[in-house]
Amino acid sequence: MRLILLGPPGAGKGTQAQRLISKYRIVQLSTGDMLRAAVAAGTPVGLRAKAIMERGELVPDEVVVAIIADRIDQPDAKRGFVLDGFPRTVPQAEALDRLLAERRMTLDGVIELRVDEGILIKRIETRVAEMTARGEKLRADDNPDVLRGRLVAYRAQTAPLTDYYAKKGMLKVVDGMAAIDAVTAAIDRLLSKLGSAKAKSAKAKGKKPAAKAKTKAKAGKAKKAKAGKTSGKKAAKKSGKPRKKRR
Ligand code: AMP
Repeated sequence: MRLILLGPPGAGKGTQAQRLISKYRIVQLSTGDMLRAAVAAGTPVGLRAKAIMERGELVPDEVVVAIIADRIDQPDAKRGFVLDGFPRTVPQAEALDRLLAERRMTLDGVIELRVDEGILIKRIETRVAEMTARGEKLRADDNPDVLRGRLVAYRAQTAPLTDYYAKKGMLKVVDGMAAIDAVTAAIDRLLSKLGSAKAKSAKAKGKKPAAKAKTKAKAGKAKKAKAGKTSGKKAAKKSGKPRKKRR
């Protein structure tokens, strides 16, 4: 199973991805998590990404594409994966298409968690206030101003991806404002529909050619027999003699 979860920051992609990976025994590939790990480890990628991430802007496409290319080749991603936070731009989506095609892999679906941005901002304000009251450490980009910036980036650069995948007939939309369990249930329903559609098309692909060949052969025989009869009838009509019965 290979999926993409689309939706603005704070839409709940991470939470739903976690549920998907335990249900389908696949891995979650979150470019945000990978970049944060790179920043913490002080790798060259991390050093390049740190300031960009703190501003809530997007890290250059080639950086995240290279990270993902590397990651999908790891043995634990062989059973499948759910991409969370990637792709985030149309060039990233195009790069992903190429990466998958080179590996003869296909995507099973793209699920958009559709949300109300105003409510998202209110949610993060509440979360920040609660965490601060509890004395918990906040993520550098975990504040309403940065979220606003990230939403702007989302609208400008990531929202066009819904069109990109809709045109390919792959986009499924789920109401991301519903309760977490309801969102999970909606995703489950979509995936079981996708699963049965996939099974049906695999079955059809496996059986139709043989069935068609048989039908064609039958049709051919019937045509010949009919042609024989017709020509016999025609000949009899022409000659005026009654037709001999075939034995
Ligand atoms: P996230 O945890 O997915 O919200 O990502 C946190 C930050 O990492 C984003 O605000 C970006 O700066 C960066 N980032 C994560 N994924 C991508 C991506 N696919 N393309 C560019 N930047 C990304």
